[in-house]
Amino acid sequence: MLGLMQSQQLLISSLIEFADRHHHEGEIVSRRVEGDIHRCTYRDVARRSRKVANALDQMHLAFGDRIATLAWNGYRHLELYFGVSGSGRVLHTLNPRLHPDQIVWIANHSEDQVLCFDMTFLPIIKAIHDKCTTIKHFVALCDADKLPADSGIPGLQSYEAWIAPQSDRYEWPVFDENSASSMCYTSGTTGNPKAALYSHRSTILHAWASALPDALNMSARDSVLPVVPMFHVNAWGLPYSAAMTGAKMVFPGPAMDGKSIFDLIESEKVTFAAGVPTVWQMMLGHMQQSDLRFTTLKRTVIGGSACPPAMIAAFNDVYGVEVLHAWGMTEMSPLGTVCTLKNKHMTISADEKMTVRLKQGRAIYGVEMKIVDDSGAELPWDGKAYGDLLVKGPWVIDQYFKGEGGSPLVDGWFPTGDVATIDADGYMQITDRSKDVIKSGGEWISSIDVENIAMAHPAVAMAACIGMKHPKWDERPVVVVVKKPGAEVTRDELLAFYEGRTAKWQIPDDVVFIDAIPLGGTGKMQKTKLRETLRDYILPGV
Ligand code: AMP
Repeated sequence: MLGLMQSQQLLISSLIEFADRHHHEGEIVSRRVEGDIHRCTYRDVARRSRKVANALDQMHLAFGDRIATLAWNGYRHLELYFGVSGSGRVLHTLNPRLHPDQIVWIANHSEDQVLCFDMTFLPIIKAIHDKCTTIKHFVALCDADKLPADSGIPGLQSYEAWIAPQSDRYEWPVFDENSASSMCYTSGTTGNPKAALYSHRSTILHAWASALPDALNMSARDSVLPVVPMFHVNAWGLPYSAAMTGAKMVFPGPAMDGKSIFDLIESEKVTFAAGVPTVWQMMLGHMQQSDLRFTTLKRTVIGGSACPPAMIAAFNDVYGVEVLHAWGMTEMSPLGTVCTLKNKHMTISADEKMTVRLKQGRAIYGVEMKIVDDSGAELPWDGKAYGDLLVKGPWVIDQYFKGEGGSPLVDGWFPTGDVATIDADGYMQITDRSKDVIKSGGEWISSIDVENIAMAHPAVAMAACIGMKHPKWDERPVVVVVKKPGAEVTRDELLAFYEGRTAKWQIPDDVVFIDAIPLGGTGKMQKTKLRETLRDYILPGV
């Protein structure tokens, strides 16, 4: 017997309509590329996202067409979040930190039709626009009078001129909630970047679960600052969960330095902020230097890479801000676990609490997880046994866009590439990463790309790239090189060889020359052994 309740489709348009109706005065504050502070409301965003939807209709863009953005966190980007997905198109957030060649590859792979970009990225667009073979329209996220006359980009128009003539009335279409809503490429896998393709249903369920008290605990009393970029897994879903709860949103634009972030937290009375450890490290450094205090910040969610104990202690003990250590992935929309204490932890000592807080936390409702050994057998939740971490749930990937790489699932579970323990209370702790990619300041560096460039040097016989612990960036790449017999190349020559061949921040910090790289039975480089060999190695300048 079926239940007799309404089966309404879970669509992203419902979020902005809800925010418009119930939180129309809710503020959206953005630091703009122009440097000024822009203020608007949920009602304004709702109105303008309907204009975006009308503008897309007028361009005859089909249901499911990809509309790309290359943009910072800001109100126009938010309008695109709702206007693009709400009208049935797919929002594709491109990562401007990638090398321009990678951006071209990704835009062509996803077959983007429109690209909306912040003026900061005009030089990138000038360099790549004629290589993006599917993009028909370029839109600069600026006022009409800020549009350069001689950009050389055919048909370039300003966002404001694009939406100005459009009506702010729009009948959001109703369609299957499993339709694609947005996509994000990750370079956290081997081979070419692959895209997670989120659906309306997965996005709404993720926002719903992540707003719960033991997850991000969001409400209409919050002022939320997503420092995590809107081009990285939809800013951890915060644009959606904020609209769902009516929280005020504060966007940092391009200004991610410690001072700008701190100033914004204070001036906009931010209660909740989200970002990777590197961002908070810069902000805490600024606060310590200038002897500053928060007056409104209550909690901060830190994830993307492991949060160092000193950072948790500084936020908690010195500034009275609760740290929510969180773990997730692009393939998980991204939230998987959040570290919040249980009732039984209320009476334990501060040191014992810290032991718990250092873990990546408990699964939020909707995410199932398990750890397995090499043979795939499930390991106990005892806080000691560690194994490959597998997950499943309604906002976990089933397959990558265009089926790239085949099915990633193992018996219905997604292997995260992380190695973890889970304790009897369900707290998961990442102990290692089985994937070889390196995570620097929250962004991926492909060890294969770094190795391939070294291998292209005539003096290099073999190259292995591994991530080394770094106090600021979490990990930095080091390339370990075996020279060809009789050939010569110095450290500096090899590092200079990377210039122009990859993004600057992806160039390794150091070159280590060795006689031989350990190989396994199948001829694969054994990076775990290599890491053991380099266990006493310290990065230059650390
Ligand atoms: P991304 O897809 O770029 O969001 O990266 C996901 C990966 O980042 C995970 O699989 C982990 O390897 C790493 N990661 C994310 N959050 C954490 C965390 N809190 N602690 C340690 N590693 C993390």
